[in-house]
Amino acid sequence: MSIRSRKVADDVKRLVLVVDDEQINRELLGFILSSTYDVLYAANGQEAMEQIHEHQSMLSLVLLDLKMHVMDGFAVLDRMREDQLLTKLPVIVLTSEKQAEVKSLRAGAVDFITKPYDLPEVILARVQRNIELAEDARIIQATEYDALTGLYSREYFHQYAAQLDQYHSGLRMDALALNINHFHLINELNGKQYGDQVLRQIADDIRNVLADVRGIACRTTADQFYIYCEHRDSYGDVMQRLLDGIADMLQSDRISLRLGVYPLVDKTVDVERRFDRSQLACNTIRGNYTQNIAYYDQDLYEREIFSEHLIEDIDEAIENRHLKVFFQPKFAIQGEKPVLQSAEALIRWIHPEIGMISPGLFVPLFEQNGLIRKLDRFVWREAAAQIADWRDRYGRTIPVSVNVSRIDIYDPTLSDEFLSIMEENRLQPSDYYLEITESAYTEETDQLISSVEKLRSLGFKVEMDDFGSGYSSLNTLSFLPVDVLKIDMGFVRDLEADPRKLRLLEIITEIAGYLAVPMIAEGVENRDQLEKLRELGCDIVQGFYFSRPVPPEEFERFITQEYSA
Ligand code: C2E
Ligand code: MG
Ligand code: MG
Repeated sequence: MSIRSRKVADDVKRLVLVVDDEQINRELLGFILSSTYDVLYAANGQEAMEQIHEHQSMLSLVLLDLKMHVMDGFAVLDRMREDQLLTKLPVIVLTSEKQAEVKSLRAGAVDFITKPYDLPEVILARVQRNIELAEDARIIQATEYDALTGLYSREYFHQYAAQLDQYHSGLRMDALALNINHFHLINELNGKQYGDQVLRQIADDIRNVLADVRGIACRTTADQFYIYCEHRDSYGDVMQRLLDGIADMLQSDRISLRLGVYPLVDKTVDVERRFDRSQLACNTIRGNYTQNIAYYDQDLYEREIFSEHLIEDIDEAIENRHLKVFFQPKFAIQGEKPVLQSAEALIRWIHPEIGMISPGLFVPLFEQNGLIRKLDRFVWREAAAQIADWRDRYGRTIPVSVNVSRIDIYDPTLSDEFLSIMEENRLQPSDYYLEITESAYTEETDQLISSVEKLRSLGFKVEMDDFGSGYSSLNTLSFLPVDVLKIDMGFVRDLEADPRKLRLLEIITEIAGYLAVPMIAEGVENRDQLEKLRELGCDIVQGFYFSRPVPPEEFERFITQEYSA
């Protein structure tokens, strides 16, 4: 893209200031310029400075006479150079003296026009060219620096880092990622402006550190900074300086800094990837109060390779059916004997080289990079087709619940997709349950609620999964739209031995009663747990006591058993 084509406001009339103490000159220039520009006038340096200050944000260029009474052109140029913002405003000097030209260029003028005046076209062309140059420079500047902190922008930083490698190939470098733990708390407790102030302070401290440590820095997103610097054996002192810098500004002990270091970078790995690595290290100590520096090491490297392996393999895995949907039965337990009520669809990866991989490993990974959408859609289709197959073969509809990841929920086409899956398999939405994990409810609540409301209004049943593991307040819960509470396994584990668990479960039962929704317990592994839950009034259970998640062929025995029972 050429710089010219980036110009935002080509059709806007620019404002220029003509400074000359002779009226005839002002009129003459005004006459030439006013067809193309809006023109302001000043009759001496002092008036010029007043006009400049008043119209600073709108002015595009100044035409400045050098010889004037009251305050001459050189004095104006000096004043403008002292002011950070005014140095960027281009000045064309009007002069009849050859010597003055060089002197005025040195004083900061960008160009000169000789008196008696050149042809109008020449004047117009010079004015236009200098305005364009100044605007282009501003665009480049804007993308070069982060507006809030004055550190480099991410893109420029990457380019600069690559350049450093090129010209200083012998330097041994480290890539650092710096984040703030619980930065959102600062914004919430003190307001966004204060949050900005903290970010600026950190940027200043980074600049100070870089005065002693050779390197460059940028801010990438909200509270994330990258530093590329010459290798050091330890960053304890650097971290201390950064922490000291903001110590007085923070009101909560929970807010602190964390640093991820990828030491002695491999320069054959591209720059972006190097910082992914330091960020990966940084993430391993998120919310950790005892450790604030982490290094990218062999262990992380292996995890990275493993993750990449899985990311690369997903399409093939779907195609070759290495990804397979298992089903775990749920039983209604309040009757005389347990009755098959429904099933949960759970994904399994039977990898030809690695073997069975737990979704606990790849689901979070795919949630990070968005691939979960693909995976979930595969599972949703498989599960629906399975309900239809059982219905056709056994004449009975076994409802199945599928897991809906938090990023699915923000997809505007979600309900249409579910509807078309229902249609393809001739199913009713009421045969299909959607499990949404509780922690999703604590994020962008408004959008989640409206999305869930929509699905429910179409007839889908929504189960809140892992209930009790998130941090929903009772207040939040009271207006959450759900059809079923599925309590977290943690409450069931050791239930038979731990009286506190029983008490907690009683409270949860009361909440379910208050919301008037049934309660499902998962992770039920033995008879004692089952009995306790039954006594509590829990409606449905799922767990190894009845069955592990099994392939569909194996699941069928639960259906046929029901028949023979
Ligand atoms: P979840 O949805 O809470 O699923 C319940 C997990 O508990 C399953 O683990 C299940 O195998 C396990 N489980 C069931 N009964 C027992 C028991 O008695 N004892 C113990 N110790 N565990 C039991 P799994 O299949 O490893 O899945 C783990 C998590 O991965 C799931 O938690 C869910 O969050 C996610 N997941 C699984 N399949 C999918 C999927 O297709 N899409 C998405 N987005 N997430 C999935
Ligand atoms: Mg689930
Ligand atoms: Mg669960």
